Amino acid sequence: MAELLIDKKHDESRQGEAFAPKDPTNHSFEKKFYIESYGCAMNFADSEVIASILQKEGFGITSRFEDADMIFINTCSIREKAEITVRKRLTEFRQLKKNNPGLLVGVLGCMAERLKSKFLEEEKLVDLVVGPDAYRTLPSLIEEAESGQKGVNVLLSREETYGDISPIRLNSNGVTAFVSIMRGCNNMCSFCVVPFTRGRERSRDAGSIVRECTQLFDEGYREVTLLGQNVDSYQWVNPSDNSIISFANLLEKVAQISPLLRVRFSTSHPKDITDEVMFTMKKYDNICKYIHLPVQSGSTRILQMMNRTYTREWYISKVNRIREILPGCGLSTDSITGFCGETEEDHQQTLSLFEYCEYDLAYMYFYSERPGTLAERRFKDDVPLEVKKTRLQEVVALHRTHSLKSMQRDLGKTFKVLIEGDSKKSDAHWNGRTDHNKMVVFPKEGNPALAAGKLNKGDYANVFIERCTAGTLIGRIK
Ligand code: SF4
Repeated sequence: MAELLIDKKHDESRQGEAFAPKDPTNHSFEKKFYIESYGCAMNFADSEVIASILQKEGFGITSRFEDADMIFINTCSIREKAEITVRKRLTEFRQLKKNNPGLLVGVLGCMAERLKSKFLEEEKLVDLVVGPDAYRTLPSLIEEAESGQKGVNVLLSREETYGDISPIRLNSNGVTAFVSIMRGCNNMCSFCVVPFTRGRERSRDAGSIVRECTQLFDEGYREVTLLGQNVDSYQWVNPSDNSIISFANLLEKVAQISPLLRVRFSTSHPKDITDEVMFTMKKYDNICKYIHLPVQSGSTRILQMMNRTYTREWYISKVNRIREILPGCGLSTDSITGFCGETEEDHQQTLSLFEYCEYDLAYMYFYSERPGTLAERRFKDDVPLEVKKTRLQEVVALHRTHSLKSMQRDLGKTFKVLIEGDSKKSDAHWNGRTDHNKMVVFPKEGNPALAAGKLNKGDYANVFIERCTAGTLIGRIK
């Protein structure tokens, strides 16, 4: 299957993730909600804000939709397949609703924003349609829906950041957490629905971000990932003195919370990433040396049609700058094959750019035309599906050789690993990630001198890498 290397980012084919309540008193709530999330980390972070809003209103949370009084699906609209997955999921709830007519079903997120009230016409079992900027109105919409009135709120905002809401960590390992620092996007990449489903860019109050990260650290978390569609354009004006907090400033403030708190961020934009950000990363050991820098295409002609606002040469100059200032920094990307009008020569440009960058990790897709986007309005989706898939396979195959090489480069080295929990395959092994975002698995019983048994989730371990697979480094505690 073409999209094998997709991670949490945009895995529209993956079964949505339901959330298990951590709160033992949860059973005392009168009514319970079940929430399932799809798509990008931003959506998962939003579900944690939604859970907080609903719990404050006295609703409990359950990880079993059979036990829920209301079911929410936080949807993704980035590709057609993401929406097909949601519709399929809704059919699975149809019988449940027949058996329990009082059950409320709500669709949230980007697909809700894209379809708006049309969702109610197309999916009769849906009672609520709520967009990414309207979650504060959920309690009142639920009240109306409970009296039989279907509810829609898809108003986009220029201010809303939910900065004052403490998210409830759902399905958390207690070690790593997402912290959204901004919402929306001002870029208008021609293939992308995000500006239409998440609205204009707005940066969250820097103080509230630092407070949330400090609170997470005090609760035992040891890694935060600062989230935004384009973190490099983060800019917050402090109303008290009109001072401006840039992304580099914010990174520094979060890194200064504690050297034991790892700081990651996603997603960067090639046109906006600055030397200042790179030098700030260099200055603090606890800012992870890993950058996600979507390229989308290696052809300047296609980049212009995509309205990415940079050229192939500009992109390469940014990669060179990263490698100059941060030698050994992990680098990942997003790419789209088969965009409108893409020729074999354009495709070869993408392959040669991958050859040049040798990414450690990549999220690769073929072009999926999205309704309402600039590309849908301006260009013909004229690359045959078979050609799209073949070109994607070529990029995936090439990238596989690079990511394996990248893993093999780490053999015989020792890395500081943040322990995130038991390895999926055995609870006699820990798993965790290196600074440059590679998964490491190693036995808990390590070096007798270290009395390794003492190590726990959230601790750092120095791990000597003995072997690797395409996706995992395997080692032992040094
Ligand atoms: S930067 Fe482009 S691709 Fe990314 S969210 Fe914004 S419009 Fe979409």
